[in-house]
Amino acid sequence: MTSCHPKLSSSVYEESLSLIPGGVNSPVRAFQEIGIPPIIARHGKGDLLVDIDDRVYVDYCMSWGALLLGHADPFVVRAVQEQMSRGSSFGLLTELEVALAKTISTSMPSIEKIRFVSSGTEATMSALRVARGYTKRSLFVKFVGNYHGHADPFLVRAGSGVLLLPQATSLGVPQESIQHTVCLPYNDPQSVKDLFSTRKDIAAAIVEPIATNMGLVPGTREFLETLREETRKTGTLLIFDEVVTGFRMGLGGAQGLFGITPDLTCLGKIIGGGLPCAAFGGRQEVMDLLAPLGGVYQAGTLSGNPLAMAAGLATLSQLQQEGIYVSLQKKTEDLLTPIHKLLSEQEGVTLQQIESCFTLFFAKQERFQAFYRFLLARGIYFPPSQWETCFVSLAHTQESLAKTSQAMMDFFHS
Ligand code: PMP
Repeated sequence: MTSCHPKLSSSVYEESLSLIPGGVNSPVRAFQEIGIPPIIARHGKGDLLVDIDDRVYVDYCMSWGALLLGHADPFVVRAVQEQMSRGSSFGLLTELEVALAKTISTSMPSIEKIRFVSSGTEATMSALRVARGYTKRSLFVKFVGNYHGHADPFLVRAGSGVLLLPQATSLGVPQESIQHTVCLPYNDPQSVKDLFSTRKDIAAAIVEPIATNMGLVPGTREFLETLREETRKTGTLLIFDEVVTGFRMGLGGAQGLFGITPDLTCLGKIIGGGLPCAAFGGRQEVMDLLAPLGGVYQAGTLSGNPLAMAAGLATLSQLQQEGIYVSLQKKTEDLLTPIHKLLSEQEGVTLQQIESCFTLFFAKQERFQAFYRFLLARGIYFPPSQWETCFVSLAHTQESLAKTSQAMMDFFHS
């Protein structure tokens, strides 16, 4: 599409830089890793994103995995509009929260009780607090390259935007806030065994069962089973961070794929259908320690917000239709099968795919940048960092998938 006002994005970005740090409200949106100004979104429909200069992109970021149904899904739009006309927030219990809680716990049986919050960061932070309250212990374990949001104790050798910081953690996080954080290598069962053989005072182990913030790295079965076994033996709670993988890897999430039951699970993204919504939940006896039943405090003005609940219900109800995940998988294979074949002969680039998630990892950052710009110029938008995961949605059309495959092949042949 030709642009009617080609300079709009640069003038908006310039103004944004003067008002918002780095011009963005979340670091990776700045496109720093690519070395170009950020895309400024105007609207989206299905698999397409349109920027304020009217450039159209096939979107594989999909709001960082939140939009499994694509942009502005008609059913989600209607549900939110209808709820909006009845009121956007009450700060009171609504039936919608009960309905979404029931839908989630039916799909993920490890979630006997759940609390809704507004971001993944809140979910992981609250899950850790309730785990510490339950075990009456402070120490917890996380894994290198896993990202659990931006609460202080998790900002130790984390993935996502934290990977690009000059230090292993963020400025502004006091040493005291991370003194109870133990960070182990991912997918190393022996280091898990070694730690748990010496320390019996660990409150929780939190893990992305499929890591999605250092590229896409599946947890190995041996690693996850060891973690489950060692935590169980020592009365440590196992927390699966399924903010990305929940309802992405099928209705049962990554825990369903592996057949491993965590004590607590953190969810976000898809469960809110693109509105600010996340949750943590798990064993009833642990969750019942939350106020007002127990002594672990956790609260939120907009928690369980009716608009977010309506969007979440409209999303999850569609995901329950027969064959949905099979069709999502098929779309991803249509996109990537030719690329898998092509890359088996190429050096310095790796394609990883799990269900509808994928990453292309380039050994050389400059080559990634060249690839990224090449795709962008052809109207294809990937997350602007090779540490982040690309997502295929149910809205991706055969036409868009074919165009993307072709563009990738053209790059590798060029
Ligand atoms: N956990 C994981 C695995 C994530 O990928 C993210 C964010 N991408 C979070 C937690 C934090 O979620 P939020 O950005 O909603 O705070």
